[in-house]
Amino acid sequence: MVTGCPMLSSSLHRPLGELLCDATEQILWPLASGRSRGKLHCRVGHGQATYHRYDPRQGLHQITYGVRMVEAKQQAESAAAWLSTREITRRRYFGGTVSPLNLLAHTCCHEFAHLLQQQDGKRYHGSVHNGHFYQILDNLHAQGQGNRVQGFLAEQAQRRGLPLSDQPLRLPDPTSARAQWRVGDKVFFGEGQSHRVGHILRVNRKTCTVACPALRGELRYRVPLSLLRREEAALTA
Ligand SMILES: [Zn+2]
Repeated sequence: MVTGCPMLSSSLHRPLGELLCDATEQILWPLASGRSRGKLHCRVGHGQATYHRYDPRQGLHQITYGVRMVEAKQQAESAAAWLSTREITRRRYFGGTVSPLNLLAHTCCHEFAHLLQQQDGKRYHGSVHNGHFYQILDNLHAQGQGNRVQGFLAEQAQRRGLPLSDQPLRLPDPTSARAQWRVGDKVFFGEGQSHRVGHILRVNRKTCTVACPALRGELRYRVPLSLLRREEAALTA
């Protein structure tokens, strides 16, 4: 159990994060670089935040993989709340098998799909996980890019002696999901037009009270635990 020890955590998980950067640059980026003259810079961040952002002045795409995200996806309890877990399960990527290896391979595809979505001009504020995004993501997996990234990560991790399990995680019962949430956690819920991003004010028995920024002040929602997700793209710049 490495949770709670920043030194040990980052010594194990930072090199895995660097492999995600390598996979994105070597396997996925060639699919996009033919379509524009932009550049890509991938990096490993200190926290959980994992996101794609684009700087139009420099024509620079940046993808950040948070070292705490890499850590969270090693174990069922902490992996359960992430959007990538739900996507693999619901959309049957990798046959629907949620393992640390598949979660990390899928995370590369997810962030890269945001890059392609941005290139297509189909990324809208408040609706980043829209129909166009899932069309791109489905295509990436259907073309076998998820499997290529998965193979790359498995081989490179083994070569470097980094632990990266391909064993399915036993996900916790969603009804006992309360323990995953803390006051202050950044979350989202809803789809399409009703998509909301906010932070947890209070953890209740079956819901969380979530504060979302509004035009004036904030709006509060009581959101069932089963509908809450951690936002991979916490920074949707
Ligand atoms: Zn996303």
